[in-house]
Amino acid sequence: MSILNESSSKRVRGTSPPPESAPCASGAPLDGRSHVKGETNAGLECVTIPQLLRRAVARHGRRDALVFCQTGERKSYQEFDREIDALASGLLAMGLQKGDRVGIWSPNRYEWVLTQFATARIGAILVNVNPAYRTGELEYALNKVGCKALVLAPSFKSSDYVSMIRELAPELETCEPGQLSAARLPALESVIVTGAEPGPGAFTFDEVRDLGGPAQQLRLQAIDGSLGPDDAINIQFTSGTTGAPKGATLSHHNIVNNARFVTDRIMLTDADRLCIPVPLYHCFGMVMGVLGAVSKGAAMVFPGEAFEPRATLQALSGEHCTAVYGVPTMFVAMLQELEGESLDLGSLRTGIMAGAPCPMEVMEQITTRMNLHEVTICYGMTETSPVSFQSLVDDPMDKRCATVGRVHPHLEVKIVDPEGNVVPVGERGELCTRGYAVMKGYWNDEEQTRECIVDGWMHTGDLATLDDEGFCSIVGRVKDMIIRGGENVYPREIEEFLFRHPDVSVAQVFGIPDERYGEEVCAWIIPKPGASLTEDAIKEFCREQIAHYKIPRHVRIVDEIPMTISGKPQKFVMRDRMVEMLSSQAT
Ligand code: AMP
Repeated sequence: MSILNESSSKRVRGTSPPPESAPCASGAPLDGRSHVKGETNAGLECVTIPQLLRRAVARHGRRDALVFCQTGERKSYQEFDREIDALASGLLAMGLQKGDRVGIWSPNRYEWVLTQFATARIGAILVNVNPAYRTGELEYALNKVGCKALVLAPSFKSSDYVSMIRELAPELETCEPGQLSAARLPALESVIVTGAEPGPGAFTFDEVRDLGGPAQQLRLQAIDGSLGPDDAINIQFTSGTTGAPKGATLSHHNIVNNARFVTDRIMLTDADRLCIPVPLYHCFGMVMGVLGAVSKGAAMVFPGEAFEPRATLQALSGEHCTAVYGVPTMFVAMLQELEGESLDLGSLRTGIMAGAPCPMEVMEQITTRMNLHEVTICYGMTETSPVSFQSLVDDPMDKRCATVGRVHPHLEVKIVDPEGNVVPVGERGELCTRGYAVMKGYWNDEEQTRECIVDGWMHTGDLATLDDEGFCSIVGRVKDMIIRGGENVYPREIEEFLFRHPDVSVAQVFGIPDERYGEEVCAWIIPKPGASLTEDAIKEFCREQIAHYKIPRHVRIVDEIPMTISGKPQKFVMRDRMVEMLSSQAT
């Protein structure tokens, strides 16, 4: 039996009903113009997050809901549900109510997922705080959305969260837990620390779980009826690839439906075990991962607090995972870790690679070396809950490599030129998305919201093309496009080319200002381990192969690329550093 057949038979063992209709993607462009509409066979559901969970508990109560490999925590859907209710009751006892904002500042831990569902249970809005934030960013984020409570891990890597919150709110030293009144964080009343002695003025997570009693349990039932699918339930700060963070505000309806459609396309069922090494603070973890798994009753397997290739491979093998998510750099790291190793990845069949372009070579290798024959590619952004394009598990390999698939159900996408006109099929332009998945707006920022959502269309800032079957290719960021001497240069195209060099592990291409040409092309390259690469060797590789104006004028061989912690290269940081390097060289 081929691996493909074997994995297909795995799907049949599930007891979940199949998706309302087998995932399909019509979405061909209308009239030769770059404008597509997703199919509407599978209906949108008007449910809240608590309703989604309740359905999973009723159908799959005894099955594994989550496994945290690092700590050994393992909960069935029933156990998970009971613990959520206890925490939700505790949050009510603390005085939190519907609409209040509750921050979570922690790497991937069980408490993160409990807080996600407990806040949703009482209609409080979960605010994802990036675990890499330091005091300045934390202060900005908590104040921007007026967080009334903050759940935080004691520390993570080089971040001592407890010290940082105490630095921002020294008033904690003298207040009772839940009674904070801090000059720099005026809205914050409660600080809750997971898994450690919190010190004065703060609750432990376990204390909060014990605060609630029968009265709060009764209130929980009443609250349930007061929640509506269109209520805001989550705020995510969009990652700083381009500048100051903005609080994208998402409703139950936004994220529940996106989670359903994303996991329909990978044919996830309750027989699946989904490995989630991507961060929970991002949609990839908490929507596509957690809500996606819950929508199907699948098990969630968290290898550790943050991505680590070895721990992830061990989780895949030890927990017999059938699916795994990651950004391309995570898959590259796992492939490198697999060199010379023999690990049983026989249960894997599917997964999602998203967040950045997937190099063809990586796709081919994960298919053969990790058994990921049914891996799909997703494209999206936080502001669209997040996914708007995804391949199907059986799309032809070339389409799965070179494109991000076809438009998602119930969404409409157009590609426009700078004047806002829809471009013909095959031409580049800015991708705009309309439909149920578009966020409610940026929290407390009407101006920014108005700038990017025009007549319901979310202007993504991504440059894309659509082909005549509706497959979409992301070709860059509107702002990343380089104009060199009047020629448009698309960094993605050059990156794909450089990646073909046998010694190149990562390639990033960007433009810097240049007096003569307006802009010049630069490349940063990370060589493969053990390889020695020179700047000249890279230029030589390009010569005769790509047009002269695309050949990077400045090449740097580097050890690392500045990334957001969700794995996105920060080109504006590279650009600034390159300008600095060149000017110090010149002086
Ligand atoms: P975020 O809001 O952090 O999820 O970032 C969204 C951005 O990531 C998009 O606007 C794209 O620029 C980029 N992105 C997401 N998925 C892909 C993909 N499959 N290929 C290329 N870029 C992607």
